Amino acid sequence: MLSERAGRIQPSPTLAMDAKAKAMKAAGIDVVNFGVGEPDFDTPEHIKEAAVKALRDGCTKYTPVGGIDPLKDAIIEKLRRDNDLRYSREEIIVSCGAKHSLYNIAQALFNPGDEVLIPSPYWVSYPDQVLLNDATPVFLKTVESDRFTLQPEDLEAHITEKTRALILNSPSNPTGLTYDRERLEKIAEIVMKHDIYVISDEIYEKLTYDGVPHVSIASLDPVLKEKTIVVNGVSKSYAMTGWRIGYAAGPKDVIRAMTNIQSQSTSNPTSIAQWAAVVALTGPQDFIATMREEFERRRSFLVDELNAIPGVHCLMPTGAFYAFPRTNHFYGRAANGRTISSSADLALYLLEEGKVALVPGGAFGDDNHVRLSYATSLGELKKGVERIRHALQKLS
Ligand SMILES: *Cc1c(COP(=O)(O)O)cnc(C)c1O
Repeated sequence: MLSERAGRIQPSPTLAMDAKAKAMKAAGIDVVNFGVGEPDFDTPEHIKEAAVKALRDGCTKYTPVGGIDPLKDAIIEKLRRDNDLRYSREEIIVSCGAKHSLYNIAQALFNPGDEVLIPSPYWVSYPDQVLLNDATPVFLKTVESDRFTLQPEDLEAHITEKTRALILNSPSNPTGLTYDRERLEKIAEIVMKHDIYVISDEIYEKLTYDGVPHVSIASLDPVLKEKTIVVNGVSKSYAMTGWRIGYAAGPKDVIRAMTNIQSQSTSNPTSIAQWAAVVALTGPQDFIATMREEFERRRSFLVDELNAIPGVHCLMPTGAFYAFPRTNHFYGRAANGRTISSSADLALYLLEEGKVALVPGGAFGDDNHVRLSYATSLGELKKGVERIRHALQKLS
C-alpha cells in the first residue's frame, strides 16, 4: 500500500507524451516531435570545457549544500545586471534544477490547508508540487483574448484567509506569452495589500521576442522583494537541461529553510555542473543571442503557418519556445471512425494519424488548446505543420 500522498499526483504528462513519440521513433516511425520542452541546441563549448576542467582539478567532492560561493556570487551578479535586484549570499540557493528549487519552496512555505494561486493554463508541475506538500491549488483562469495573463480583479477575488502564495511564470510555458510591467505593477499592488508570497518562475527570461523586455516582479518594490522568491536556472538560457542547475533568490528565512530541507534530501547539486554554471553566467553571453534569434525566426514561421490552417487560431508568442494554438474547432469531428472530443483525443489522433507529437492543453489545465514546442529545426517545423494541416483536413 503506497502513501496517500503518492496517490495525489500523476506522472508529468509532457514527459509521457515525449516518451510515446520516442518509442514510435525507436520503432522506425518518422515522427515530428513538437513535444519537447528543452532547447535543441547543444551546451556551448566553453561551458563544457569548464566542466572538464573542474573534473580534472578534482572538484569532485561534496560542496556546501546551497551551492559554492563562486556560483552564488555569479548569480548575485546576474540578478543585479539583468534584473536590477540586489541579494547577499544568504538570500541565494542553488538546487538540482529550477524544478527542485520550486519544490524546496513548496516544502518550506506550505502548510496543510494553505491555498496557492496558480494562473491557468499553468506549467504542469505547479499543481502537483502544491498537492505533494499538502496545500490546495486554486486556479485562476486566464483567457486568450487577454493574452492569457492574470486579471488583477480576478486575483483579488480569489484571495482568502488561507491564501499563502501566488505562482507567476513569465515568459510562460505553455502559452509563450509574457507579462508587461503595467500588469505586474497591478498584481504587485494586490499581493502587497494582502501580504502573500509570490513565487516567480523566470526560467525563460532570456527568450523574449519582438523587443519585449523581461520584467521581474521582485524588482518593482523593495517591500514586495521581501515576499518574492525568484526562480531561475541555466537549463533554458544555456541549453543545459541535463546538467540540473537551478536557483532561487528570496528572503533569508525562506532560503535558510529551503537549504535545510535540501540538506536532508539531495544535498548539494553536482559539483562539476556548478562550476560549469559559474562559467555559463560569467562567460561570453553571445550564445543566448544566437539561440534567441533562431527561436524568434522559427516562432514567426510556425505561428503564421498554424494560422493559415482553417479552424486553427494561434496568438503570436512573445517568449519561451512554445506556440499554444486553439484547436476546439475540431472537437466533435471525426475521421476513420474516431471522434475527437478533447485535446487529448486530438493529440493522440495527430500522433497516430499524422505522425506528429504535441502536448494536449488539458495537461496545462486548458482543453481548448494544444502546445507545440519549436525547439526543433525549421525543416522539421515545415514537415510537421504540413502533416498537421493534412490530418486536420481529414476531420469532418
Ligand atoms: C523547464 C522548466 C522549469 C524547470 O527547469 P529545470 O531548471 O530544468 O528544472 C521550470 N519552470 C518551467 C516553466 C519550465 O518550463
